[in-house]
Amino acid sequence: MGGTNSKWEYSDHPYAGRSAVLATMHGKLPLIGPVLENAIGMKVTDVSVNTDMFGTFTGDIERRESPLQTAIAKARLGIRSSGKSLGLASEGSIGPDRALPLIVSDEEIVVLVDDSSGLVVWESNTSFEIVKASASIRPGDTLGSFLKEADFPQHMLTVRPNVGSIRPIWKGISELEVLETAIRGCATASSDGLALVQTDLRAHTCPSRQKVIAGAAERLAVRLKTRCPRCKAPGWGDTGRLFGVPCGWCGTEVQLPRAKIQSCALCDFELIEPIIGQETADPSKCPFCNP
Ligand SMILES: [Zn+2]
Ligand SMILES: [Zn+2]
Repeated sequence: MGGTNSKWEYSDHPYAGRSAVLATMHGKLPLIGPVLENAIGMKVTDVSVNTDMFGTFTGDIERRESPLQTAIAKARLGIRSSGKSLGLASEGSIGPDRALPLIVSDEEIVVLVDDSSGLVVWESNTSFEIVKASASIRPGDTLGSFLKEADFPQHMLTVRPNVGSIRPIWKGISELEVLETAIRGCATASSDGLALVQTDLRAHTCPSRQKVIAGAAERLAVRLKTRCPRCKAPGWGDTGRLFGVPCGWCGTEVQLPRAKIQSCALCDFELIEPIIGQETADPSKCPFCNP
């Protein structure tokens, strides 16, 4: 923000002064609300809906839809239960990265659904800085190095039996004494005598996730500020790539990106912008010249 004309941009935005509801059970309002309020003047309040019905990080309820579809469904649930027409929600995916499967990443999506126009705008943010610790522990084991890796108690923990039943399950543990009690109880319920202790990945118990959600909200704010050149709807931006570049020697098509696609979230307007310096492919990338 800042600059002399920021006030004008602020009041000019179609969502300035409008109120939106964030569907959350896990305290995400401070991560998302202020970012959107500062950027476009939208007022964000939270509505408590049972977002756990779409799946939980502790694995006791499995997610069935894609993260984006889940986020959209949560936002629509918030819209229905509040009577507002603007709904926000976020959804995270923590696990082996799609591109680098040996590394754990956290991809957070934040979505805005405008029920009155049908507009759906979303952004994502990926981080490799996520804390995600897991260990099978016997009552009485030394916990020091695990607790350090797990960044406890800043990051809270869950405990459950190591094998067999997923219950009892303890969540949101931030005290050593409670942790030890939970380990004893869950180890007893497990046929191998071990308790499974893991990072509690819910947003309000996992500070390394909170940063990634706030980053996704920043990106959504930038996208909402960007308007379609034709219909002026918010949410104009990058939506994909076109692939296929001719090899510089033989002309064989190589699967490299040749252009960026920018499109509107509402109308069908799009712009295709060739990637400079990607008119021909290096023959070393060609399956014919350099097999
Ligand atoms: Zn448009
Ligand atoms: Zn070639």
